[in-house]
Amino acid sequence: MALLPLHLSLAGKRVLVVGAGAVAARRTRSLLAAGARVDVVSSEVGEGFPDVPVARRAFRDDDVDGAWLVLSCTGTADAEVALACAARQVWCVRADTAALSDAWMPATASVDDVVLSVTAGGDPRRAVRLRDALALSLEVGELPLRRSRSGAGSVVLVGGGPGDPDLMTVRARRVLAGADVVVCDRLAPLVHLPEDVEVVSVGKTPGGPSWFQRDIEALLVDRARQGRRVVRLKGGDVHVFGRGHEEVTACVRAGVPVEVVPGLTSALAAPTYAGIPVTARGVTQSFSVVSGHLPPGDPGSTVDWSALARLGGTLVLLMAVGRLPAICAALVDGGRAPATPVAVVADATMPQQRTVVTTLERAPVDAGEVRAPAVVVIGEVVALRHEWDPARDPP
Ligand code: SAH
Repeated sequence: MALLPLHLSLAGKRVLVVGAGAVAARRTRSLLAAGARVDVVSSEVGEGFPDVPVARRAFRDDDVDGAWLVLSCTGTADAEVALACAARQVWCVRADTAALSDAWMPATASVDDVVLSVTAGGDPRRAVRLRDALALSLEVGELPLRRSRSGAGSVVLVGGGPGDPDLMTVRARRVLAGADVVVCDRLAPLVHLPEDVEVVSVGKTPGGPSWFQRDIEALLVDRARQGRRVVRLKGGDVHVFGRGHEEVTACVRAGVPVEVVPGLTSALAAPTYAGIPVTARGVTQSFSVVSGHLPPGDPGSTVDWSALARLGGTLVLLMAVGRLPAICAALVDGGRAPATPVAVVADATMPQQRTVVTTLERAPVDAGEVRAPAVVVIGEVVALRHEWDPARDPP
């Protein structure tokens, strides 16, 4: 059947719904959302039916008079309603038989200002499945949702998760799909971006050229002032040793609109992907996330390693590769048992993820070869590790 798809403006217009069961309830809600004035005729009313006037009686042909549109959802009297509508040249959507209906109600969804409206050969379930899949693709940025440029520049700091692009949030994907400029770190997940997106890599590669923080901030502000939508894509979470606050402040000072999208930090993802629960009932009631970028005793360090040793619980160390011997020694000196289990998880969530399990005493030797990026997990929970390795054995 050849059909003309159409979006109707129903604000203030009278629409008649015949029937008050589940289908009628769903459609009445859609009509109300479109601003229609809905009258319902039905001898019975289903539970939870929307709050609209219901004439509790059988349908009469003259109920159609004055209606712009009629939805017949009775299951039994739809043919009769359709006939009364045809006589008055009013559109009628029959819920019983698509093939006999002069108008179809599509499965719809809206994402931003895009309205999806799907029919699928008269099979409503197929239409709903397709609608859901399309809406998801739009939401996560697999389909181009991008609007033409609005003129107002902005910066969004996005936590991209620990590395596997599957672990980015839906919001992160959506924001990326709308970006004009992406400024990314070395540990940010690699995602496919359209060719017209300007990609600036400001990652500090060991031995390679590196960006000063103030130059990164100046770049964000400059591109936003050009009216472009800038995404600052970082590894893990923006505020976990990510210098996110400095970049937010730079934008605020420059009067550039700025938003932050939280991300899954490697401090949590790495233990999980190594099969280690960061807390476990009866084993530990706390976990601490600590930066190991300065060794114990360094004048710049503000970490009290002996206090951490006494604190117990799970310790999660980031940026600790290279300082591990000094850190383990400081923890043992502070009173943590030398046999405390330790796991070092490198390239967590990536295909090349590797985990070394050892103890505080033996870690300097056993984990001596591990290269950054790695997360170190210290505590009894490491002994609960199970062999399932989601990185290599995806669910
Ligand atoms: N904001 C990030 C951390 C930045 S500091 C986050 O929330 O994850 C950089 C440190 O993060 C690295 O030295 C390493 O300790 C850790 N890291 C980040 N990604 C990692 C990964 N995929 N595997 C292991 N460690 C990772």
